[in-house]
Order: sequence, then C-alpha cells, then structure tokens
Amino acid sequence: MTSNLNSQTETLNFSADVARLLNIVAGAPFTIHDVFLRELISNAADACDRLRYDAINDPALTKDNPNFRIHIYPDTDARTLTVVDNGIGMDRAELVENLGTIAKSGTAALMENMKGGADPLKLIGQFGVGFYAAYMVADKVTAVSRKAGSKETWAWESDGRTGFGIREATAEETGKLDGARGTAIILHIKDEGVEFLLDEKIRQTVQQYSDHIDVKILLNPPRDTGKGEGRPANEASALWTHPKSEVTPEQYREFYRHITHGFDEPLLTAHWHAEGAIAYTALLFIPMMRPWDLYDPGRKQSVKLYVRRVLISERMEGLVYPWMRFLRGVVDSPDLPLNISRESLQYNPVLAKIRTGITRRVLGGLEKLAKNDEPGFLAFWSQFGSALKEGLYDAHEHREQIFKVCRFFSTNGEGYTSLDEYIERMKPDQEAIYYISGENAQSLRTSPQIEGFSARRIEVLIFTDTIDDFWLPQVREYKGKPFKSVTQGDNGLAGNTEDAPESVKELAARLRDLLKADVADVRISNRLTDSPVCLIAPETGVDMHMERVLKIHQDYAGESKPVLEINPEHTLVRKLAEAGNENDFEDSARLLLDQAMIIQGRPVKNPGDFVRRMSVAMERLLS
Ligand code: ADP
Ligand code: MG
Repeated sequence: MTSNLNSQTETLNFSADVARLLNIVAGAPFTIHDVFLRELISNAADACDRLRYDAINDPALTKDNPNFRIHIYPDTDARTLTVVDNGIGMDRAELVENLGTIAKSGTAALMENMKGGADPLKLIGQFGVGFYAAYMVADKVTAVSRKAGSKETWAWESDGRTGFGIREATAEETGKLDGARGTAIILHIKDEGVEFLLDEKIRQTVQQYSDHIDVKILLNPPRDTGKGEGRPANEASALWTHPKSEVTPEQYREFYRHITHGFDEPLLTAHWHAEGAIAYTALLFIPMMRPWDLYDPGRKQSVKLYVRRVLISERMEGLVYPWMRFLRGVVDSPDLPLNISRESLQYNPVLAKIRTGITRRVLGGLEKLAKNDEPGFLAFWSQFGSALKEGLYDAHEHREQIFKVCRFFSTNGEGYTSLDEYIERMKPDQEAIYYISGENAQSLRTSPQIEGFSARRIEVLIFTDTIDDFWLPQVREYKGKPFKSVTQGDNGLAGNTEDAPESVKELAARLRDLLKADVADVRISNRLTDSPVCLIAPETGVDMHMERVLKIHQDYAGESKPVLEINPEHTLVRKLAEAGNENDFEDSARLLLDQAMIIQGRPVKNPGDFVRRMSVAMERLLS
C-alpha cells in the first residue's frame, strides 16, 4: 500500500445548511443519547440491502463473502467506537457527496421544522441526515470506505465544524474493513458519550432499535478487528416474516420506529400474509403525525418492497396508491421476479394486484378503527383525510370504500359526519346530498346560500379541503344520491318564486338591465331568509368556490358571471322595489351587489366607488 504514503488530503467545506445543522447537533442538550447508533446501524443495513440487490445481477460483487453483517467495536483505550459493515461501500465521489457537500433537501426542511421548537435529535433521521447524529457523541468522525468491486479505499474525516478532508485510506484504516468492501465509521467519542464504549449499553441499544434488522449485528472486543466473529447482538430476522401471533406490540412499535426514524407510536398496525393466487406479506403502519413532505409534489409513497427478503426499492412506485402515501412499512412477495429492473417491475400486473390487496385491507382497517376508536380515527382523518380523498377521483374501483371512511363538517353540528349518517338524516322527499364548498367552515356556516336550507331543516355538508373541489365534478353521487352544490343553479328547494309581488319581479328586471355587465342574471330567490342578496353560479359552468380553486391551481382564465339572487321578503329589497330610478337606485343596487361579492369572499369591482357609496349611506344614517 505504498500509494498511501504519499496520498494527499483534500479539504472541502460543508454546504452552509449542513454546517448549521452540525452546529446544532454538536451543541444539542444530551437527551436522546442513543439515536446516533440507530442511525449508523440503519445506514449500515441499508448499505447491505443495496449490495444484496446489485449482487443479483452481478454475483461477483459479493463473492469474497456472501454473508452480510455489521460489526461494532468499542475501544475504551483509544476512546473510539467503530461500526463496520460489508455493504455496498462508497467511492470517493460518493463520500464527498453523501456526507457533506451537496445540500440535502432534508437539511433545509429540518431547519424549518426546528423553528417550531421541535427537538432536532428526534427529527434528524426522518429528514435523511441521520449520519450527522454521530456528532452527538463524537468530536471527530472518520468514514473509511471501499465500494464493492473497487480496489481503492477512501477516508473521509471531519470534526464536524466547517469542513472535512478526503484522502486515500491508510493501510491501518483499510484493515478495519470487513473484507474487501464496505464501510467503517470510526467515532472519536467525546466526554458526554463515554457510556457508548460499554458493551452493555451498546447491546441494550442495539436490541431496542435494531433487533429485527435482517442483518446480523456482532459486538466485538476491540482488538478483534474484522477477523473475529463477535457475539450476536440482535435477533437478525426480518420481523414481517414472523407469524403475527409471535410478534409483541413492542416489537411492532420498535420496527415502526426503525423504519420511520421516529419516536412516536403507530396509529394503526396491519400485518398479514396473503395466500392464494398471489402470495405476499405486508407489515404496514399509519403514523400518528403527518410527515413534513406529505404534500410535496415530489414525494413518493414510502412502503418498501422486498422480493424474498431482498430489498428492491424503498419507494417502489405502483406498490401503493399515491393517495395512500402516508403508509409506512414493508411488503415482501415471492411472486415478483427478482431479476428485472425496478422500472419494469412497476408495471408488473402482480404488483397491481398486491396494491389492490393493500388498498382494500387498509381501508377496511380504517373502517374498523372508525367504529372502535373514534378519537383515534379522527386523529387519522385530520392528518391524512385530504390525501385519502385524492383517491375518490384517482381510483374509481375503491371509491365506495373510501367514501365509507370520509368525514365532513356539516350544518348538523360542530363535529364530523359520515355520508351514511347524512343519508340517514335526509328528509323523506330530499333527493340530493347538499353541500357548500369554501375555505373556512366557520364562515361557510353563515353563508346566505344555506339560510333557506337551515330554515327547512335540510342538512348541508361543508367542504373545506381544496381537494373536494377536484373530486366533486368527477364523482357526482353516493349511493344513488347526487351531490348538489347550494351555490350553483337551481337548488331544488320547494317554494314558488312566482308568488313574489309584481314590484319585486319588476325590480329583478331593472337590476338585470342595470348590472348586466357584472351578473349573468338576477333572480328571485327561495334560498334566502335573512340576507337580502346572494350570488350563485349558473347551472352550467363552474361552481363559485371551484372557480377560485381552479384559478389558484391550474391557471384557469375563464371568468364566469355569477347570478344575483334577491330575497323577495327582505325589507331592503321591498324598499328598493318601491324606489323610483331617481332615488339613488343605482347606488343602492350596486351596494347590494358589492355586499354579495364581499360575503362570497370576492373582491368588489371598484373599491373606490364602493367606499363613496357606503359613506353617503352612512351619512344618511347619522343625520
Ligand atoms: P439517509 O440514510 O436518510 O440517506 P444519512 O445522513 O443517514 O441519510 O446518510 C446519507 C447517505 O450517506 C446515505 O444515503 C448513503 O448514501 C450514505 N451512507 C451513509 N452511511 C453509509 C454506509 N455505511 N455505507 C454506504 N453508504 C452510506
Ligand atoms: Mg440514514
């Protein structure tokens, strides 16, 4: 290894985000000591998983040792803790890229999250920057690595302050590797971390976090570098392969924490072995909290796909519907081919069948949760309901089942209702499921358009998720009952507007003429009781709130004129009907229209005119 003698160290700076993160990690109060070990073992196990996959097509990569394993060497004399894996390893460029220079998207997001006071150490793994947790216990870290199939070994080294050095590894460092491939992470332990040099502490931590990792973890005496076998510190069998009856709730929880890098409890755990035409095992969880990137358009589903215990992909597209992207866990099937690319696997019909199985099972589990544990279910709904509703237009074949677990606000009370409960409460002659859609439930409850429904004791659902405006136009009905917006077109309410006094009918005609540039029509309303006017959308075209949503999300240019409805019983309308054209008729008419615009959350057409008219009216009021 003469080349090592004249190898040179190149020094590079951390990206600004990483440097800031390291600063926080190193100075963080010493609370969850052991998270660093969980993160390092998780990286080591990932590295083994990756090589296991690559070796399917290139068996030479593992011919020196086909058994994957992780060794841990505490050394109290040198005050080092070394974690060695014989996984895929990293070449020079990967060491530089993965451990430092490229600003990882997760770093910025993590910083953002911490502003809210969240504990950085609890979050670090979730944001894909778990490696840096090493600086909780170490004041210097050396990563020695050799990529499987390569002959060069590289060393990355940093005190975790401003930058790191990268150079060829020394012979001694290379000797720390387990055979001809993989990585050794050498932690130079600082005072706060000395307990992690004790066998007992390490064993306990490994058992808690990594018992079920499918790679053997061996605890070794310090001088035993790489050669000896060490003592097994974990069970090393994939948890999901066990029969359900043999897994304890604690094991499920720790497995969940391992895959999510979290510290919370799963809201729902589903573990089953499907047999029949297609066999697979699934161990899935619904988390308690929404992940930071649930609505990030780039987020992919995150259930891992294994084929006969070989990890194929952490985020296999097509395995889980995008609207179930909150699911975590693993799926393992012997019925998928191992030797085709991930890309072609994505379109494999077996994968689609597994997806259907997962979807049914999870929706069924949610239905049960809703029955047996309402608070738990509502916790799910408030976190993930709006994602799940994407399925209403995305997956026609699961629509009925999705609807069963959908919850909406309604005028029936403050809380949520299901559609089935709504239908039970429908009036005998009521044909439609009425809804109003907008941003804020509280202000929707006082919308003029629902006055007539409340007066007739007809319940109206309140839709406040943007996604509602996307599924509604496609779905149209539930159990044969059409969804009907109370802000669009004829509302089907009983009540004859023909009975309105002649003067009000004439008023409608006068207003139609006066306001024709701004409204499509002026009509006598049967949906108003307290308010003088309201706007609705014409029968054909886009509903009121929908238009707004479209404008925001799909640069929709169409601008449809609303219909102005007037309340024939309202004194203001009656008075206006009596007024001649001379008595400030136009000002009053335009003020009425502006009122209707404001309550709809739309801008008034001309704020200057509005203010002037309003001032005149107030002057009169005060004189
Ligand atoms: P994450 O594991 O979420 O990607 P980390 O900060 O834990 O984030 O690790 C960063 C990256 O460094 C990993 O994605 C991997 O590419 C690389 N890496 C870390 N440890 C190892 C290792 N033991 N073997 C191979 N690659 C590793
Ligand atoms: Mg990691």
